[in-house]
Amino acid sequence: MSSKHDSSAMTNHETESKPEKAKHEPKKPREHYRRRTRLIHGSFATGRWDYDHHVVPPQSSSATFRLKSVHRGAEGFVEFGTETAQRAPIYIYDRLDEPTRGMLEENLAVAENGEIAVTFATGMAAISAAICMLTPMGTQVVAHRVLYGCTHSLLTNWLPRWGVAHAFCDMTDPESIVQVATKDTRVVYFETPVNPTMELIDISAVRKVVDRLNEGRPENEKISIVVDNTFATPYCQRPLELGATLVVHSLTKDIGGFGTDMGGAVIGPNRYYNLLMLYRKDFGGVLSPKNAWSILVYGLPTLAARMANQQKSALKVAEFLQKQPNVARVVYPGLPCFPQLELAKRQMHGYDGKFAPGSMLYFELKGRDGDPSASLGAGAASAAERFVDFIAEHAYTITLAVSLGQIKTLIESPYSMTHAAIPDAQKMACGLRPGGIRLSLGLEDWHDIIADLETALAVV
Ligand SMILES: *Cc1c(COP(=O)(O)O)cnc(C)c1O
Repeated sequence: MSSKHDSSAMTNHETESKPEKAKHEPKKPREHYRRRTRLIHGSFATGRWDYDHHVVPPQSSSATFRLKSVHRGAEGFVEFGTETAQRAPIYIYDRLDEPTRGMLEENLAVAENGEIAVTFATGMAAISAAICMLTPMGTQVVAHRVLYGCTHSLLTNWLPRWGVAHAFCDMTDPESIVQVATKDTRVVYFETPVNPTMELIDISAVRKVVDRLNEGRPENEKISIVVDNTFATPYCQRPLELGATLVVHSLTKDIGGFGTDMGGAVIGPNRYYNLLMLYRKDFGGVLSPKNAWSILVYGLPTLAARMANQQKSALKVAEFLQKQPNVARVVYPGLPCFPQLELAKRQMHGYDGKFAPGSMLYFELKGRDGDPSASLGAGAASAAERFVDFIAEHAYTITLAVSLGQIKTLIESPYSMTHAAIPDAQKMACGLRPGGIRLSLGLEDWHDIIADLETALAVV
Protein backbone atom coordinates (compact mmCIF):
# COMPACT_ATOMS: atom_id res chain seq x y z
CA MET A 1 0.00 0.00 0.00
CA SER A 2 1.58 3.27 -0.99
CA SER A 3 1.31 6.08 1.52
CA LYS A 4 -0.98 8.16 -0.64
CA HIS A 5 -3.38 5.25 -1.08
CA ASP A 6 -3.70 4.08 2.50
CA SER A 7 -7.01 3.99 4.26
CA SER A 8 -8.25 6.54 6.71
CA ALA A 9 -10.80 4.10 8.12
CA MET A 10 -10.77 3.38 11.80
CA THR A 11 -8.63 0.28 12.20
CA ASN A 12 -5.31 1.45 10.94
CA HIS A 13 -3.18 -0.83 13.12
CA GLU A 14 -1.31 -2.65 10.38
CA THR A 15 -2.12 -0.96 7.15
CA GLU A 16 0.83 1.31 6.68
CA SER A 17 3.13 -0.69 4.47
CA LYS A 18 1.60 -4.11 3.85
CA PRO A 19 0.62 -5.21 0.37
CA GLU A 20 -3.18 -5.36 0.23
CA LYS A 21 -3.44 -8.48 -1.81
CA ALA A 22 -2.07 -10.57 1.07
CA LYS A 23 -5.33 -10.21 2.96
CA HIS A 24 -7.80 -13.11 2.89
CA GLU A 25 -8.17 -13.47 -0.82
CA PRO A 26 -10.05 -16.74 -1.30
CA LYS A 27 -8.28 -19.38 -3.43
CA LYS A 28 -11.29 -19.50 -5.70
CA PRO A 29 -12.52 -16.04 -6.78
CA ARG A 30 -15.59 -14.85 -4.84
CA GLU A 31 -17.52 -14.69 -8.11
CA HIS A 32 -17.35 -18.47 -8.28
CA TYR A 33 -19.29 -18.91 -5.05
CA ARG A 34 -23.08 -18.99 -5.04
CA ARG A 35 -24.94 -15.75 -4.42
CA ARG A 36 -26.53 -16.96 -1.19
CA THR A 37 -23.04 -17.56 0.22
CA ARG A 38 -21.68 -14.24 -1.02
CA LEU A 39 -24.46 -12.30 0.70
CA ILE A 40 -23.22 -13.75 4.01
CA HIS A 41 -19.46 -13.33 3.55
CA GLY A 42 -19.31 -10.30 1.24
CA SER A 43 -15.75 -9.05 0.91
CA PHE A 44 -15.29 -7.72 4.42
CA ALA A 45 -11.85 -9.25 4.75
CA THR A 46 -10.00 -7.31 2.08
CA GLY A 47 -7.63 -4.38 1.99
CA ARG A 48 -10.45 -2.34 0.51
CA TRP A 49 -12.25 -2.25 3.84
CA ASP A 50 -9.37 -2.62 6.25
CA TYR A 51 -11.44 -4.69 8.69
CA ASP A 52 -9.12 -7.61 8.49
CA HIS A 53 -9.61 -9.14 11.93
CA HIS A 54 -13.31 -8.64 12.44
CA VAL A 55 -15.64 -11.56 11.82
CA VAL A 56 -18.46 -9.03 11.78
CA PRO A 57 -17.65 -5.60 10.35
CA PRO A 58 -17.46 -2.98 13.12
CA GLN A 59 -20.27 -0.45 13.48
CA SER A 60 -18.78 2.70 12.13
CA SER A 61 -19.92 6.10 13.28
CA SER A 62 -17.76 8.99 12.24
CA ALA A 63 -19.10 12.14 10.62
CA THR A 64 -15.67 13.17 9.43
CA PHE A 65 -12.38 11.41 8.69
CA ARG A 66 -8.78 12.25 9.62
CA LEU A 67 -6.66 13.08 6.60
CA LYS A 68 -2.88 12.73 6.64
CA SER A 69 -2.14 15.62 4.32
CA VAL A 70 -3.76 18.30 2.22
CA HIS A 71 -2.62 16.31 -0.79
CA ARG A 72 -4.57 13.30 0.41
CA GLY A 73 -7.66 15.40 1.05
CA ALA A 74 -7.42 16.92 -2.43
CA GLU A 75 -7.03 13.46 -3.91
CA GLY A 76 -10.12 12.31 -2.02
CA PHE A 77 -12.24 15.06 -3.53
CA VAL A 78 -10.98 14.29 -7.02
CA GLU A 79 -11.72 10.58 -6.58
CA PHE A 80 -15.17 11.08 -5.05
CA GLY A 81 -17.84 9.19 -6.89
CA THR A 82 -15.46 7.06 -8.94
CA GLU A 83 -15.08 3.35 -8.37
CA THR A 84 -11.75 2.48 -6.73
CA ALA A 85 -12.49 -1.20 -6.46
CA GLN A 86 -9.03 -2.50 -5.67
CA ARG A 87 -8.18 -0.50 -2.58
CA ALA A 88 -9.67 1.43 0.30
CA PRO A 89 -11.34 4.64 -0.81
CA ILE A 90 -10.22 7.94 0.72
CA TYR A 91 -12.96 8.88 3.14
CA ILE A 92 -13.57 12.55 3.84
CA TYR A 93 -17.05 13.08 5.26
CA ASP A 94 -19.98 10.74 6.01
CA ARG A 95 -22.35 12.40 3.49
CA LEU A 96 -19.81 11.76 0.70
CA ASP A 97 -18.87 8.15 1.41
CA GLU A 98 -18.36 5.86 4.35
CA PRO A 99 -17.15 2.25 4.75
CA THR A 100 -20.21 0.47 6.24
CA ARG A 101 -22.42 1.84 3.51
CA GLY A 102 -19.74 0.96 0.99
CA MET A 103 -19.70 -2.67 2.09
CA LEU A 104 -23.49 -2.84 1.96
CA GLU A 105 -23.47 -1.34 -1.53
CA GLU A 106 -20.97 -3.91 -2.74
CA ASN A 107 -23.20 -6.73 -1.47
CA LEU A 108 -26.41 -5.17 -2.83
CA ALA A 109 -24.80 -5.07 -6.28
CA VAL A 110 -24.02 -8.78 -5.92
CA ALA A 111 -27.60 -9.51 -4.80
CA GLU A 112 -29.08 -7.87 -7.93
CA ASN A 113 -26.29 -8.85 -10.32
CA GLY A 114 -25.53 -5.19 -10.96
CA GLU A 115 -22.16 -3.47 -11.30
CA ILE A 116 -22.76 -0.81 -8.66
CA ALA A 117 -25.23 0.12 -5.92
CA VAL A 118 -25.74 3.47 -4.20
CA THR A 119 -27.75 3.51 -0.97
CA PHE A 120 -30.08 6.24 0.29
CA ALA A 121 -31.85 7.18 3.52
CA THR A 122 -35.16 5.61 2.42
CA GLY A 123 -36.70 3.88 -0.57
CA MET A 124 -38.27 7.19 -1.64
CA ALA A 125 -34.88 8.94 -1.51
CA ALA A 126 -33.53 6.23 -3.84
CA ILE A 127 -36.54 6.37 -6.19
CA SER A 128 -36.45 10.18 -6.44
CA ALA A 129 -32.68 10.09 -7.09
CA ALA A 130 -33.01 7.50 -9.86
CA ILE A 131 -35.85 9.36 -11.59
CA CYS A 132 -34.54 12.92 -11.13
CA MET A 133 -31.02 12.01 -12.23
CA LEU A 134 -32.49 10.90 -15.57
CA THR A 135 -35.00 13.71 -16.16
CA PRO A 136 -33.83 17.25 -16.95
CA MET A 137 -36.48 19.93 -17.43
CA GLY A 138 -38.72 19.35 -20.43
CA THR A 139 -38.55 15.55 -20.28
CA GLN A 140 -41.24 12.99 -19.45
CA VAL A 141 -41.66 9.85 -17.32
CA VAL A 142 -43.96 7.03 -18.45
CA ALA A 143 -45.15 4.90 -15.53
CA HIS A 144 -47.47 1.97 -14.94
CA ARG A 145 -50.89 3.16 -13.76
CA VAL A 146 -50.62 1.56 -10.29
CA LEU A 147 -47.63 2.65 -8.23
CA TYR A 148 -46.55 2.84 -4.62
CA GLY A 149 -48.53 5.85 -3.31
CA CYS A 150 -45.54 8.13 -2.64
CA THR A 151 -43.97 7.35 -6.04
CA HIS A 152 -47.29 8.34 -7.60
CA SER A 153 -47.25 11.55 -5.58
CA LEU A 154 -43.63 12.29 -6.58
CA LEU A 155 -44.57 12.05 -10.28
CA THR A 156 -47.83 14.01 -10.03
CA ASN A 157 -47.10 16.62 -7.31
CA TRP A 158 -43.40 17.39 -7.54
CA LEU A 159 -41.91 16.60 -10.94
CA PRO A 160 -44.36 18.96 -12.75
CA ARG A 161 -42.95 21.85 -10.69
CA TRP A 162 -39.60 21.26 -12.31
CA GLY A 163 -41.03 20.92 -15.81
CA VAL A 164 -40.98 17.13 -15.90
CA ALA A 165 -44.17 15.59 -17.29
CA HIS A 166 -45.64 12.14 -16.65
CA ALA A 167 -48.03 9.78 -18.39
CA PHE A 168 -49.57 6.57 -17.08
CA CYS A 169 -50.42 3.48 -19.07
CA ASP A 170 -51.21 -0.18 -18.46
CA MET A 171 -47.83 -1.89 -18.80
CA THR A 172 -49.33 -5.35 -18.42
CA ASP A 173 -49.65 -4.62 -22.17
CA PRO A 174 -46.12 -3.29 -22.92
CA GLU A 175 -47.28 -1.91 -26.29
CA SER A 176 -49.34 0.67 -24.38
CA ILE A 177 -46.04 2.47 -23.64
CA VAL A 178 -45.82 3.45 -27.32
CA GLN A 179 -49.16 5.26 -27.11
CA VAL A 180 -48.03 7.68 -24.37
CA ALA A 181 -44.28 7.96 -25.01
CA THR A 182 -43.03 11.11 -26.72
CA LYS A 183 -39.67 12.27 -28.05
CA ASP A 184 -39.11 13.69 -24.54
CA THR A 185 -39.58 10.40 -22.68
CA ARG A 186 -36.48 9.50 -20.67
CA VAL A 187 -37.78 7.01 -18.08
CA VAL A 188 -40.13 4.03 -18.16
CA TYR A 189 -40.97 3.20 -14.55
CA PHE A 190 -42.86 0.32 -12.93
CA GLU A 191 -43.07 -2.21 -10.09
CA THR A 192 -43.50 -5.92 -10.67
CA PRO A 193 -45.33 -7.52 -8.94
CA VAL A 194 -47.43 -4.38 -8.80
CA ASN A 195 -48.09 -3.17 -5.25
CA PRO A 196 -50.68 -4.23 -4.10
CA THR A 197 -52.62 -5.92 -6.94
CA MET A 198 -49.86 -8.47 -7.66
CA GLU A 199 -50.20 -8.11 -11.44
CA LEU A 200 -46.91 -8.76 -13.23
CA ILE A 201 -45.20 -6.68 -15.90
CA ASP A 202 -43.03 -8.51 -18.40
CA ILE A 203 -39.60 -6.89 -18.03
CA SER A 204 -38.08 -8.38 -21.22
CA ALA A 205 -41.13 -7.39 -23.24
CA VAL A 206 -40.86 -3.79 -21.95
CA ARG A 207 -37.15 -3.89 -22.90
CA LYS A 208 -38.08 -4.79 -26.49
CA VAL A 209 -40.59 -1.93 -26.75
CA VAL A 210 -38.09 0.56 -25.29
CA ASP A 211 -35.32 -0.68 -27.62
CA ARG A 212 -37.62 0.09 -30.54
CA LEU A 213 -38.35 3.59 -29.20
CA ASN A 214 -34.63 4.16 -28.62
CA GLU A 215 -33.67 3.33 -32.21
CA GLY A 216 -31.86 6.27 -33.78
CA ARG A 217 -31.90 8.38 -30.61
CA PRO A 218 -28.62 9.95 -29.47
CA GLU A 219 -27.16 8.38 -26.30
CA ASN A 220 -28.27 11.22 -23.98
CA GLU A 221 -31.89 11.00 -25.17
CA LYS A 222 -32.33 7.26 -24.77
CA ILE A 223 -35.10 5.96 -22.52
CA SER A 224 -34.04 4.11 -19.35
CA ILE A 225 -36.11 1.41 -17.66
CA VAL A 226 -36.31 1.76 -13.88
CA VAL A 227 -37.86 -1.15 -11.94
CA ASP A 228 -38.90 -1.04 -8.29
CA ASN A 229 -38.01 -4.57 -7.18
CA THR A 230 -39.06 -4.13 -3.54
CA PHE A 231 -41.97 -6.57 -3.68
CA ALA A 232 -40.13 -9.44 -5.35
CA THR A 233 -36.72 -8.84 -3.70
CA PRO A 234 -33.54 -9.86 -5.56
CA TYR A 235 -34.05 -13.35 -4.15
CA CYS A 236 -37.10 -13.84 -6.39
CA GLN A 237 -36.28 -11.67 -9.42
CA ARG A 238 -33.27 -9.81 -10.91
CA PRO A 239 -34.64 -7.17 -13.30
CA LEU A 240 -31.16 -6.11 -14.55
CA GLU A 241 -30.73 -9.58 -16.04
CA LEU A 242 -34.03 -9.12 -17.90
CA GLY A 243 -33.30 -5.73 -19.43
CA ALA A 244 -33.91 -3.08 -16.73
CA THR A 245 -31.44 -0.18 -16.75
CA LEU A 246 -31.71 0.48 -13.00
CA VAL A 247 -33.32 -1.30 -10.06
CA VAL A 248 -34.59 0.62 -7.05
CA HIS A 249 -35.34 -0.80 -3.60
CA SER A 250 -36.85 0.13 -0.32
CA LEU A 251 -34.34 -1.56 2.00
CA THR A 252 -36.92 -0.95 4.73
CA LYS A 253 -38.79 -4.03 3.49
CA ASP A 254 -37.51 -7.57 2.87
CA ILE A 255 -33.84 -6.68 2.42
CA GLY A 256 -33.70 -5.04 5.86
CA GLY A 257 -36.12 -7.76 6.88
CA PHE A 258 -36.52 -7.08 10.59
CA GLY A 259 -38.37 -3.79 10.48
CA THR A 260 -35.82 -1.88 12.54
CA ASP A 261 -34.37 0.53 9.97
CA MET A 262 -35.24 2.46 6.84
CA GLY A 263 -33.13 2.55 3.72
CA GLY A 264 -33.14 2.61 -0.07
CA ALA A 265 -30.85 1.69 -2.96
CA VAL A 266 -30.34 2.22 -6.67
CA ILE A 267 -28.49 -0.61 -8.44
CA GLY A 268 -27.26 -0.72 -12.03
CA PRO A 269 -24.33 -0.24 -14.39
CA ASN A 270 -21.09 1.60 -13.59
CA ARG A 271 -21.95 4.53 -15.81
CA TYR A 272 -24.49 5.87 -13.29
CA TYR A 273 -22.27 5.62 -10.22
CA ASN A 274 -20.78 9.09 -10.40
CA LEU A 275 -24.10 10.85 -11.05
CA LEU A 276 -25.88 8.97 -8.25
CA MET A 277 -23.10 9.74 -5.77
CA LEU A 278 -23.16 13.40 -6.79
CA TYR A 279 -26.93 13.55 -6.46
CA ARG A 280 -26.80 11.93 -3.02
CA LYS A 281 -24.02 14.25 -1.85
CA ASP A 282 -25.92 17.38 -2.86
CA PHE A 283 -29.49 16.41 -1.96
CA GLY A 284 -28.16 14.80 1.19
CA GLY A 285 -30.39 11.73 1.57
CA VAL A 286 -27.60 9.43 2.76
CA LEU A 287 -28.22 6.16 4.56
CA SER A 288 -26.97 6.44 8.12
CA PRO A 289 -24.04 4.06 8.76
CA LYS A 290 -25.88 2.67 11.81
CA ASN A 291 -28.82 1.69 9.60
CA ALA A 292 -26.46 0.42 6.92
CA TRP A 293 -24.80 -1.79 9.53
CA SER A 294 -27.95 -3.66 10.52
CA ILE A 295 -28.94 -4.19 6.90
CA LEU A 296 -25.39 -5.37 6.13
CA VAL A 297 -25.05 -7.64 9.16
CA TYR A 298 -28.59 -8.93 9.76
CA GLY A 299 -30.76 -8.11 6.74
CA LEU A 300 -29.04 -9.00 3.50
CA PRO A 301 -27.21 -12.12 4.76
CA THR A 302 -30.53 -13.67 5.89
CA LEU A 303 -32.60 -12.57 2.88
CA ALA A 304 -32.48 -15.94 1.10
CA ALA A 305 -33.27 -17.95 4.24
CA ARG A 306 -36.17 -15.66 5.18
CA MET A 307 -37.61 -15.48 1.67
CA ALA A 308 -37.52 -19.26 1.20
CA ASN A 309 -39.59 -19.68 4.37
CA GLN A 310 -41.93 -16.71 3.92
CA GLN A 311 -42.65 -17.84 0.38
CA LYS A 312 -43.55 -21.32 1.56
CA SER A 313 -46.03 -19.81 4.04
CA ALA A 314 -47.46 -17.51 1.35
CA LEU A 315 -48.37 -20.50 -0.81
CA LYS A 316 -49.96 -22.35 2.13
CA VAL A 317 -51.99 -19.27 3.08
CA ALA A 318 -52.99 -18.56 -0.55
CA GLU A 319 -54.20 -22.15 -0.95
CA PHE A 320 -56.16 -21.89 2.29
CA LEU A 321 -57.80 -18.56 1.39
CA GLN A 322 -58.76 -19.80 -2.05
CA LYS A 323 -60.88 -22.54 -0.48
CA GLN A 324 -62.85 -20.22 1.82
CA PRO A 325 -66.46 -19.56 0.79
CA ASN A 326 -66.36 -15.88 1.82
CA VAL A 327 -63.16 -15.11 -0.13
CA ALA A 328 -63.92 -13.74 -3.62
CA ARG A 329 -60.44 -13.69 -5.12
CA VAL A 330 -56.85 -14.53 -4.15
CA VAL A 331 -53.95 -13.17 -6.20
CA TYR A 332 -50.62 -14.90 -5.61
CA PRO A 333 -48.15 -15.64 -8.42
CA GLY A 334 -47.52 -19.12 -7.00
CA LEU A 335 -51.14 -20.33 -7.35
CA PRO A 336 -51.91 -22.49 -10.41
CA CYS A 337 -54.90 -20.21 -11.14
CA PHE A 338 -52.74 -17.03 -11.24
CA PRO A 339 -53.72 -15.31 -14.51
CA GLN A 340 -50.10 -14.61 -15.55
CA LEU A 341 -48.64 -17.92 -14.38
CA GLU A 342 -46.52 -18.41 -17.51
CA LEU A 343 -44.89 -14.99 -17.04
CA ALA A 344 -44.45 -15.57 -13.30
CA LYS A 345 -42.56 -18.80 -13.98
CA ARG A 346 -40.40 -17.16 -16.63
CA GLN A 347 -39.57 -14.03 -14.66
CA MET A 348 -39.48 -14.96 -10.98
CA HIS A 349 -36.87 -17.41 -9.78
CA GLY A 350 -34.56 -17.73 -6.84
CA TYR A 351 -30.76 -17.86 -6.82
CA ASP A 352 -31.12 -21.65 -7.10
CA GLY A 353 -33.13 -21.27 -10.33
CA LYS A 354 -36.38 -22.51 -8.76
CA PHE A 355 -39.71 -20.72 -9.21
CA ALA A 356 -39.90 -17.97 -6.55
CA PRO A 357 -43.32 -16.28 -6.41
CA GLY A 358 -42.50 -14.26 -3.27
CA SER A 359 -44.13 -13.63 0.06
CA MET A 360 -46.84 -11.05 -0.77
CA LEU A 361 -50.46 -11.79 -1.54
CA TYR A 362 -53.65 -9.85 -2.23
CA PHE A 363 -57.22 -11.02 -1.67
CA GLU A 364 -60.78 -9.75 -1.64
CA LEU A 365 -63.70 -10.83 0.51
CA LYS A 366 -67.28 -11.30 -0.63
CA GLY A 367 -70.05 -9.13 0.75
CA ARG A 368 -72.27 -10.66 3.43
CA ASP A 369 -74.82 -11.87 0.89
CA GLY A 370 -72.17 -14.14 -0.62
CA ASP A 371 -72.71 -12.81 -4.13
CA PRO A 372 -69.31 -12.74 -5.92
CA SER A 373 -70.30 -9.57 -7.85
CA ALA A 374 -70.67 -7.85 -4.49
CA SER A 375 -66.86 -7.90 -4.28
CA LEU A 376 -66.99 -4.67 -6.30
CA GLY A 377 -69.19 -2.91 -3.88
CA ALA A 378 -69.73 -1.60 -0.42
CA GLY A 379 -70.63 -5.02 1.01
CA ALA A 380 -67.15 -6.35 0.34
CA ALA A 381 -65.52 -3.17 1.61
CA SER A 382 -67.27 -3.34 4.95
CA ALA A 383 -66.62 -7.08 5.23
CA ALA A 384 -62.92 -6.39 4.66
CA GLU A 385 -62.91 -3.64 7.27
CA ARG A 386 -64.62 -5.89 9.84
CA PHE A 387 -62.16 -8.66 9.02
CA VAL A 388 -59.04 -6.49 9.29
CA ASP A 389 -60.33 -4.79 12.45
CA PHE A 390 -61.01 -8.18 14.03
CA ILE A 391 -57.45 -9.23 13.19
CA ALA A 392 -56.08 -5.98 14.60
CA GLU A 393 -57.82 -6.67 17.89
CA HIS A 394 -57.65 -10.42 18.25
CA ALA A 395 -54.94 -12.03 16.08
CA TYR A 396 -51.62 -13.00 17.63
CA THR A 397 -49.64 -13.74 14.44
CA ILE A 398 -50.96 -10.98 12.14
CA THR A 399 -50.48 -7.25 12.75
CA LEU A 400 -52.39 -4.38 11.14
CA ALA A 401 -49.62 -2.10 9.92
CA VAL A 402 -48.31 -0.61 6.70
CA SER A 403 -44.90 -1.72 5.40
CA LEU A 404 -44.09 -5.29 4.46
CA GLY A 405 -41.33 -7.84 4.26
CA GLN A 406 -40.68 -8.29 7.95
CA ILE A 407 -40.35 -11.42 10.06
CA LYS A 408 -43.82 -10.57 11.42
CA THR A 409 -46.88 -11.07 9.20
CA LEU A 410 -48.49 -7.71 8.36
CA ILE A 411 -51.94 -6.94 6.97
CA GLU A 412 -53.45 -3.71 5.59
CA SER A 413 -56.19 -2.25 3.36
CA PRO A 414 -54.34 -0.60 0.45
CA TYR A 415 -57.37 1.20 -1.02
CA SER A 416 -57.77 3.55 1.93
CA MET A 417 -54.28 3.32 3.44
CA THR A 418 -51.07 2.94 1.38
CA HIS A 419 -52.71 3.83 -1.96
CA ALA A 420 -54.94 6.68 -0.75
CA ALA A 421 -53.02 9.13 -2.99
CA ILE A 422 -54.32 7.51 -6.21
CA PRO A 423 -57.73 8.87 -7.37
CA ASP A 424 -60.66 6.45 -6.70
CA ALA A 425 -61.68 6.11 -10.35
CA GLN A 426 -58.12 5.20 -11.33
CA LYS A 427 -57.91 2.65 -8.52
CA MET A 428 -61.18 0.98 -9.51
CA ALA A 429 -60.11 0.91 -13.17
CA CYS A 430 -57.03 -1.12 -12.34
CA GLY A 431 -58.49 -3.66 -9.97
CA LEU A 432 -57.64 -1.95 -6.70
CA ARG A 433 -60.95 -2.23 -4.87
CA PRO A 434 -62.11 -0.96 -1.49
CA GLY A 435 -62.44 -4.57 -0.25
CA GLY A 436 -58.89 -5.53 -1.15
CA ILE A 437 -56.54 -6.81 1.54
CA ARG A 438 -52.75 -7.04 1.33
CA LEU A 439 -50.91 -9.65 3.33
CA SER A 440 -47.13 -9.77 3.82
CA LEU A 441 -46.09 -13.16 5.16
CA GLY A 442 -43.56 -13.34 7.98
CA LEU A 443 -41.67 -16.18 9.60
CA GLU A 444 -44.33 -17.46 12.01
CA ASP A 445 -45.40 -21.10 11.71
CA TRP A 446 -47.94 -21.01 8.86
CA HIS A 447 -50.40 -23.21 10.76
CA ASP A 448 -50.79 -20.38 13.28
CA ILE A 449 -51.25 -17.73 10.60
CA ILE A 450 -53.97 -19.81 8.95
CA ALA A 451 -55.66 -20.41 12.31
CA ASP A 452 -55.82 -16.65 12.99
CA LEU A 453 -57.20 -16.01 9.48
CA GLU A 454 -59.78 -18.78 9.94
CA THR A 455 -61.04 -17.30 13.21
CA ALA A 456 -61.39 -13.85 11.62
CA LEU A 457 -63.13 -15.20 8.51
CA ALA A 458 -65.70 -16.94 10.68
CA VAL A 459 -66.89 -13.70 12.25
CA VAL A 460 -67.21 -11.43 9.15
C1 LIG B 1 -42.14 0.97 0.90
C2 LIG B 1 -42.01 1.06 -0.55
C3 LIG B 1 -41.38 2.17 -1.14
C4 LIG B 1 -40.82 3.33 -0.33
O1 LIG B 1 -39.80 2.95 0.52
P1 LIG B 1 -39.48 3.76 1.89
O2 LIG B 1 -38.29 3.02 2.43
O3 LIG B 1 -40.69 3.66 2.75
O4 LIG B 1 -39.18 5.16 1.51
C5 LIG B 1 -41.28 2.18 -2.51
N1 LIG B 1 -41.78 1.18 -3.28
C6 LIG B 1 -42.40 0.11 -2.74
C7 LIG B 1 -42.91 -0.96 -3.64
C8 LIG B 1 -42.54 0.01 -1.37
O5 LIG B 1 -43.18 -1.04 -0.83
